[in-house]
Amino acid sequence: MQALAERIGEAVVGLEFVGYTAFSFHGLKTAVPAPESVVNQCVVAMGRRAKYVWFGFADDTRLLFHLSQAGRFDIEPIAKATKPKGSVVRWKFSDGSALLLREFGTERKAGWWMLAPGDDGPLARLGPEPDSEEFFELIRTSADGRRIHTLLRDQRTVAGIGRGYSDDILHHARLSPFASLKSMDLAPRERLLDAIEFTLRDGLERERKRTGGLSENKLGEHFLVHGKHGLPCPVCGTDFAHVSYESYEVVYCPKCQTNGKVLADRRLSRLLK
Ligand SMILES: [Zn+2]
Repeated sequence: MQALAERIGEAVVGLEFVGYTAFSFHGLKTAVPAPESVVNQCVVAMGRRAKYVWFGFADDTRLLFHLSQAGRFDIEPIAKATKPKGSVVRWKFSDGSALLLREFGTERKAGWWMLAPGDDGPLARLGPEPDSEEFFELIRTSADGRRIHTLLRDQRTVAGIGRGYSDDILHHARLSPFASLKSMDLAPRERLLDAIEFTLRDGLERERKRTGGLSENKLGEHFLVHGKHGLPCPVCGTDFAHVSYESYEVVYCPKCQTNGKVLADRRLSRLLK
């Protein structure tokens, strides 16, 4: 996400916003201020929080957008007039270029917001960033009883980790996805913090090197554990296992992370009883 934000920023900061074409009725989530209010204003800043990216204008209005799991971005050096599949909105800039936000699938989560100065919109509901003191404190002291995989994915607890990185982080920390902070002493908590820092930094470096389309789906190619069940663990050679959990597929190494224990799909075990 950070690498994506950097690439979009390079493309548009310093340009004037000259207009937009909305393709989806559900795309724009706010009525006021109208996007027309920033037409002919310069994009002076951009930022990112979790999966949200924003452009800042001189009057402190922000144009915010969210990339869902299935979202992607096309940077068009010369704005096109086409409507590719899944188009949500095309924003146009003063050098003739455009950004096209698209979404595949039917979730309709990819959207955009116009935020008045001081309004955080959906950002207000997000938890701390994973590199913040507030989050370190939580991991070191919390007696949270939820499974750690659930906690890492919860955007209100920590913003911007998500399920793919959760698999990679827990493997790096040699922790079971079903462990909880409540049952952890200090050593695994510190391993978890180290693994989060390492995995997110490593992921960002690999993303920065990437060229081509800005599809978030392609992020999957860069995970070491997520989506790799059946392939050998690079640490011990055991095949990665997977368990279906809260409608996610969680991938883990049974040797490195769960002392050989195979995690059960609760829905499946209920059926077998
Ligand atoms: Zn292993």
